[in-house]
Amino acid sequence: MKPAIFLDRDGVVIENRPDYVLRWEDVEFFPEAVRALAQFAARPYQIIIVTNQSAVGRGIISLETAQAINQKLVSELQTKGCRIDGVFMCPHAPDDQCTCRKPRPGLLLQAAQALEVDLTNSIMIGDAWTDLQAGQAAGVGQLALVRTGRGKQQLGLPRPPEILEAKIYADLAAALGDLIAS
Ligand SMILES: [Zn+2]
Repeated sequence: MKPAIFLDRDGVVIENRPDYVLRWEDVEFFPEAVRALAQFAARPYQIIIVTNQSAVGRGIISLETAQAINQKLVSELQTKGCRIDGVFMCPHAPDDQCTCRKPRPGLLLQAAQALEVDLTNSIMIGDAWTDLQAGQAAGVGQLALVRTGRGKQQLGLPRPPEILEAKIYADLAAALGDLIAS
C-alpha cells in the first residue's frame, strides 16, 4: 500500500472552463502546476487524477473523446517530467445518481482498489468543496482546497460541515510544497 496525491483535473492541473473541456484545444495547463508535479514526481506517492466529466453524461462529448483527452494530458505531462499513475473519471450526469460523481467517494475508492492506495496517508487537492467531500468520504487523511479554478468562488461558500479540516492554498505548487515533506 502506498499513499496517493489525488488531484482534481479542471481548476487544479488545467484551467477550468465553464463550457467544459470538449477538445484538446480546450486544455490549458497551469504552468506552475506542471512545474510542481515535475518537482514532486520522484516522491513516494502515487499521483492520481479524479475528475467529474458530466459533459459525457449530458451527451455533449463522447466517452471516447473524453478518455482520449485524459490520455493525451497524461502523455503531455510525462514529456514535461511529470508522472501520473492513474486517471479516474466519472462520466455521469448529476441526475444519473451514480456512486462515482464527486462529492461521492466512488472514484477514489476505485483508485484505491485498483492501485492499492493507503487512503489514510493520502492527500486530496481540489478547487471545490465537492472534491474535499469526496476525499473525506473516502477516508483520505489530508484535504486541501486551492484558489485556482473555482477555488476563490468556493471560499465564498460555507465549508460543508462534514469537512472537519481543510487547508487552503494559492495553487497546486503551494499545496504540494507545504504538504509533501522535502
Ligand atoms: Zn459517476
